[in-house]
Amino acid sequence: MSVGQTADGDLRVSAARPIVIGNWKMNGLREQLAEIRLLAGMLEGIDLRCDVAICPPATLISSACEALEGSVVKVGGQDCHTEPAGAYTGDISAEMLRDIGAELVIVGHSERRQRHGETDAIVCAKASAAHRAGLCAVICIGESEEEREQGETLAVITRQLRESVPETAPADLTIIAYEPVWAIGSGRTPTEAEIAEVHLTVRRFLAERFGEAAAQEVRILYGGSMKPSNARSILAIDHVDGGLVGQASLQARDFLGIIAEFAPC
Ligand code: PEP
Repeated sequence: MSVGQTADGDLRVSAARPIVIGNWKMNGLREQLAEIRLLAGMLEGIDLRCDVAICPPATLISSACEALEGSVVKVGGQDCHTEPAGAYTGDISAEMLRDIGAELVIVGHSERRQRHGETDAIVCAKASAAHRAGLCAVICIGESEEEREQGETLAVITRQLRESVPETAPADLTIIAYEPVWAIGSGRTPTEAEIAEVHLTVRRFLAERFGEAAAQEVRILYGGSMKPSNARSILAIDHVDGGLVGQASLQARDFLGIIAEFAPC
């Protein structure tokens, strides 16, 4: 992943520091904090060339922040409400996440889009809420298997970007995660060419909307069945600035196997 001219003009790959984010989903009791401590210990003293974050379930965020004090590993939430406070039983605001030490929050994960009816407009409002609270918004996009088979991938991605990314999104507080729905938890991944095509489309969108300098600051992650054995080839693709990792982030050793792609040999 080097900075330079691409085949299609002056769009450059990002010069921003990559990031690898673990999404624990609804996994993890307190004993799982041992994996977080193990990870922090294994990363100590390593000259890492990427940022690292873990998004545990809401119940563990506070303890994870305590366990990671002094470590390079950041902590994030997996969702937030659009409002800062109010009568929204069961919900958590971006301000609350920030208050307990989170630095980022995932919004618009396909599991929330599909199972909680989150539309692009809701995802956009949640990303704005994250920015309002000073959190980095990790905005997820991705096509379904049917959409890919029908050749609609780029149209779907572009619509999601247009409608889920706030017009006022600050580049340093915005990460886009491309996660093909059919690749999540399935063990299947797109080809390198397919990933490259989508990531270039995302970069082009960002450049058109925010200008090229800002577009290069926004990190574009790939997510969907990333693991130590396929991380190297995926992370080497142009415009892939890191990964959003589900299953393989639950065990410190697996997660480290991905992060290690950014450690000097
Ligand atoms: C995810 O759900 O964000 C994800 C990438 O999951 P997995 O790595 O398990 O496919």
